[in-house]
Amino acid sequence: MALIVQKFGGTSVADPAKIKAVAERVLRTKKQGNQMVVVLSAMAGETNRFVDMAGQMQEQPDEREFDVLLASGEQVTIALFAMAVKGMGGDAVSLLGDQVKIVTDSVHTRARIKSIDTSLINKHLKENRIVVVAGFQGVTEADDLTTLGRGGSDTTAVALSAVLKADMCEIFTDVEGIYTTDPNVYAAARKIDRITYDEMLELASLGAKVLDIRSVGMAKRYKVPLHVRSTFTENDGTWVVEENKNMESMLVSGVTYSRNEARITISKIHDIPGIASKIFTPISDAGVVVDMIIQNTRAGEMTDMTFTVPRTDYKKAMDIVRNLDIAGPDQVSGSEEIIKVSIVGVGMRNHSGIATTMFHVLAREGINIHMISTSEIKVSCVIDEKYTELAVRALHDAFSLEKDNQPEEE
Ligand code: ADP
Ligand code: ASP
Ligand code: MG
Repeated sequence: MALIVQKFGGTSVADPAKIKAVAERVLRTKKQGNQMVVVLSAMAGETNRFVDMAGQMQEQPDEREFDVLLASGEQVTIALFAMAVKGMGGDAVSLLGDQVKIVTDSVHTRARIKSIDTSLINKHLKENRIVVVAGFQGVTEADDLTTLGRGGSDTTAVALSAVLKADMCEIFTDVEGIYTTDPNVYAAARKIDRITYDEMLELASLGAKVLDIRSVGMAKRYKVPLHVRSTFTENDGTWVVEENKNMESMLVSGVTYSRNEARITISKIHDIPGIASKIFTPISDAGVVVDMIIQNTRAGEMTDMTFTVPRTDYKKAMDIVRNLDIAGPDQVSGSEEIIKVSIVGVGMRNHSGIATTMFHVLAREGINIHMISTSEIKVSCVIDEKYTELAVRALHDAFSLEKDNQPEEE
């Protein structure tokens, strides 16, 4: 008997018929003799609808109340799902984050899980029930509801798998696994059979929302084997695993892009010690995460500072920069019409020339690169948003990712 955690995303539980289909599938796995913990997201579109309504109440919605609102979508799906199971003659119990005692810190809208109490879940499992847990939500030590950040149900599933020592964590979604690039952007994308935690961390941090980045970090840390697969087919998906030496021969595993980017430039400021700290301390104090930074020194002790922030924090960061006493309004400019396109692969560690190929391909397509950043296993370029699809496809072709060039397992 195995203990399996299965998470179903919003499109998988988008309406009552889909919820029933998922219940049937889970019951089948249960009848094969497994213990089942199911984590559900809200119905597709619901969380966005709540965000929109909150914006109609308050320009910057109160974060505590925002979490109370956003957490409600998952309450609906877990209850419907448990009813569906019971309607099919099975037994299930729905549990909210605070009932399971998924205790988080108090950073509303992107809380981190601190601990999970397994006793209630284990009690229901022992009584042979399917345990259905609301994804994306937790509770603080002071009993306030919290949410884990958009896409956070993946993290609930992995965290539960870790504390319950589950044999497997399966993430069911609307594509058949992790692809060489977003299959909804480029049809030539190829499903990857196995990918390392590190590559997936990079892909997720660079925009591939197929898995929430925190869930990947946690899976790596607690060695939770992850299987990402489709709700709508029986096919095998992608396994996210620890690196083995064969994987090194893959130069590039994927191309990804992130639209959640914005650029801010402060021009012609004095190039003196402390200037970076003066700019970035208040931005970081406001909880805004700065990504790339470029400083260009001009002749005459003046400098330009350009950096990127999440587009969702653009206005907040702009207001902070405009209020600094180091630059006048005409020295501050920015753009929300940029994206970051990246190539990722563990093989880059041992091969040179990958970045140059990327620059060459973008140049050939007439795409100007605004900023570049690299790590051991990735190269990212900031480009104009209008070139997103063109860049993704050209890079995917240039690195022959449509071909099945995965090495055989030993
Ligand atoms: P869920 O609601 O099930 O959590 P998400 O919408 O969060 O699903 O994630 C699945 C989506 O991720 C896919 O529909 C796809 O468009 C997108 N995606 C982006 N990059 C990739 C990739 N490299 N491989 C697979 N899917 C990707
Ligand atoms: N419902 C939440 C969201 O849309 C959490 C999730 O789906 O993972 O972000
Ligand atoms: Mg998701």
